[in-house]
Formats: sequence, structure tokens, C-alpha cells
Amino acid sequence: MKQPFFYDITLRDGNQSLKKPWQLSEKQFIFEKLHELNVQAVEVGFPASSHMDFEACKTLADMAWDNLVVSALARAVKSDIDSAIKAIGHSKIPRVHTFLTLSPFHMKYVLNKKPDYCAKVAIEAVEYATKNIKKINKDAQVQFSVEHFGDCIENIDFVVDTLKKIVKAGAYVINLPNTVERTRPATFINLIEKVKNALPEDVIISMHNHNDLGMATATTVEGYFAGAIQLECCLNGLGERAGNTDFAQVAVALHNNGVDVPVNLEKIYETSMIISQMAKVQIYEKAPLIGPEALAHRSGIHQDGAIKTKDMDFGAYRPIKPSLIGRDDDEKIGFTSQSGKTAVFEIINNAGYPITIEEAVRLTPIVKEISEKKGELGTDEILKVYFREILDVKGAFELVSFKLVGGDKFKLGFKFNGELKEVEGSGNGPLDACLDALKNAGFSRKLSFYKQYALDEDKMGAGASAMSVIHLVGKNNEEIIGRAIDQNTARANVKAIFNALNQVYK
Ligand SMILES: [Zn+2]
Repeated sequence: MKQPFFYDITLRDGNQSLKKPWQLSEKQFIFEKLHELNVQAVEVGFPASSHMDFEACKTLADMAWDNLVVSALARAVKSDIDSAIKAIGHSKIPRVHTFLTLSPFHMKYVLNKKPDYCAKVAIEAVEYATKNIKKINKDAQVQFSVEHFGDCIENIDFVVDTLKKIVKAGAYVINLPNTVERTRPATFINLIEKVKNALPEDVIISMHNHNDLGMATATTVEGYFAGAIQLECCLNGLGERAGNTDFAQVAVALHNNGVDVPVNLEKIYETSMIISQMAKVQIYEKAPLIGPEALAHRSGIHQDGAIKTKDMDFGAYRPIKPSLIGRDDDEKIGFTSQSGKTAVFEIINNAGYPITIEEAVRLTPIVKEISEKKGELGTDEILKVYFREILDVKGAFELVSFKLVGGDKFKLGFKFNGELKEVEGSGNGPLDACLDALKNAGFSRKLSFYKQYALDEDKMGAGASAMSVIHLVGKNNEEIIGRAIDQNTARANVKAIFNALNQVYK
């Protein structure tokens, strides 16, 4: 299987359909981006359409990197072909791309010409283009497109016959567009195979599929496996009407199916964001691969599978590892009433706060209830519940004061069921001393775990510094997790102990 040949049409098909077509400087910038992506060919424009387009084609042709095919569009008329040659003939591998329809409908109702006449014009245009561009550059190429090829089912034999003559006239590439996507993928592939089998083997078969019914990627991917190795694609699927075949989708679909794709896939995401801005065409939420929602999970079942496989190349509910296309965000986990404990756990954990899965289980019904009214909850709203339910546990205990009174002695003041108690305790540091004081007051507890987390200020508001997490051993050897936040690290420890006690003494 030959490697796919990515023929980018962002600057031609994409540009011509923009509400505000790009200026030369913008085209130059995009051309550089196409270089970074490492596409094999760029159709730089339609030189005969305007002076501005001619100049842009000329400038971009000068910028071509080694091995890049620079192509320019020309109708099957001599003046268009002349201006295409003038604009890009000096590049390393120039290609004139000329086209004419051979579809019965289009020949009859749009051109109002007989098929034989159209065939003759097409053959002569290719002959003329080949003769003239080869004079300048022996490596130059000519591409011929059968506009509305997808509509050529009834006269396919005539089309094949004409294409044989067009190849003899010098065409190196035969491009077969599914122009308005009237033909379903499987039927279109049959047509492509028919053409391919009838032409000499060294002729490159190309596809140019529009996305009018949303099947362009499918047709292009399957067309490749049927032997059409040149794939005409547009970044972000820009182009007339519903756009052209989406570059990223085709590249990734081929990659996922074991094809050695000669483009820098890791540049796709960044480039798509830039193109969206420059084209002023937003990427819709659900756009495959690059959409903001493309890697988001909301249902509990999906979130669970996604998280269990998040470090694997092959994810339970995603087509790629985001880094394949240079996306650095992980699979986004949103919380709605459809979500579960895994989402609560992940969201709080990702926000930088320690939480256990048991705590997440405790929080889930509370968060769900809020979400049933509000819809998707942001991290802030989930953290609010976390603070309220995990950190501010109300119970029988209330910390009043905790002071160093000399040496390793501390004085602890607290209320138990409203009754004030003051006791002293000593030990190796404040945590130890506090537990000792509590023991002296009749509340003996063993510490089994202790950790302090530094919290950044912007998370907690000015001055916040530490979260203490302690585990006390319960009466039945169960673990009671206490947490607290304070600017003062010693006080954070003591508050964490009270937080744990309040879970026992309610
Ligand atoms: Zn097109």
C-alpha cells in the first residue's frame, strides 16, 4: 500500500468560501503552518481569479519547501492555464490543476454543452498545460479534475474513456470529486476503482470529497484503501457549503487503521485552533478530535471506563490519546446528574485536594442533587460541597484555643457538647501534644497517618497555606479521616483532629 499523499486545499477551497478571504500575510502564515504539518502538496489558489490571488500564488510558490508540490487552479481555458503557469511555474514541483465537469446533469444544465465537446475541451486543456509547464520545469505536473464525478454513474464508461485520453494528453493526477456528496461512500468507491483499473498504474488517483451529508471522511478514508492515494483535505473541514473533507479526521483515521501517515499529527490541534481564529469559523463543541467536547465524559459508566484506562494508549471511550494530535488536556470529566463517584473523586483530586474514594461516595448523592437542578457543575461548585461536607463537619467538639505554654507543653481549650474543657498535653510537636491533651480529657485516640499538603494561594484565597490530613484509629479499628485547612500549620493539624472527632461524636 502506497503512503497517502496529503494535498491541502485550505488556501484555495477553504479560503474561497470564507466570509472574509485571507490577506497575503495571513496566507503566508498558514503556508508555514502547513509546512509544520508536513503536507505533501498545497493548492495555493486560483491565479486567474484576481490580481491579488495571482500575487499570493506567486509569493507562496517562492516559499515552497523541498519536495512540496505547489498547485494552482485553472479552468480548462488557455488564459487561466497561462496565469497559473506564470504564478507557480518557478516553484520546485509546480502543478497546474485544471478541471471540467463530465457529469450529464452539469454538462446539460450548467454548461449547456454536449459531452463530446466537453471531452475535447478537457483533453486540449491538459495537452496545453502539459506542453507549456514542462517547458519551464521538467518536473512539473498536470492534474485534471472531473468536477461532479460523483454524478457520473450513468455515463461512467464515457468518463473512463475520456480520462484515458486525458492521461495520454499528459495528466499525471486524476482527481475524482464527490462534489455535492450525492453518491454514498460505497458506490463512490466502486466508481473510483473502475477508473483506477482502467488507467495506467502510474497515474495517481485523487479524491476531493465535500461534506454535504457528513460522509466526506468516510469516503476519503475508504477511497484510500481502494487505491486513491492523493487525499484532498482542508484544515478544520473548511470549504464551500458544509465544507471539504476534514484534514485531521482523515489523518487520524488512517493512523488508527495502521497506515503510515506522513504528516506531523502532533501539530494538528494547535494548527486547528489557529485556523479557527483566522477563519473566524468556530470549532463546534462536538467536532471530532478537536472540539471542546470531543474528549469529555459525563455519564458515570463512561467516566469510570475513561479513568480506568486514562494512562493507556487505547482508551475505553476515546479514539486517540490526546497527545497524538498535540492536545494536552486529559479527557475532560464533567459532573451532571448522570455522573458518579469516579467523577467526584477525579474532579476534586485534579483540583489539588486530597480525597478518598469513600469520601467521594459520601459526596456523590449531595452533588447529584444539586446537579439535578443546575445541570453540569463546575469544579468550584463541587469543591464548595467538598469544603462544607468534608472540612466543616459539625459535631460535639468545638476547638476554642491551642497554645504553647512552655517546653513541649500545650494547652488545649475545647467545648464538648457545649461544655468548656481546658487540658494540657505534651509530646513531640503540636499534633502529639494535642492527642495527649485529649487523652487527658478522656478522649484517647491513636494516630495512624499524617500528611500536610501545601495549597497555593490562588486556590484558597490570600494567606492560605496548608491542609492537614490525619487518620485516627476508631473503636472498631476503622479509619477516621480528618482534614483541615489553616494558615498556621500547627493549627491545621489540631483542627484536623477535631474534624475527625466530630465524625465520631455527632
Ligand atoms: Zn471543492
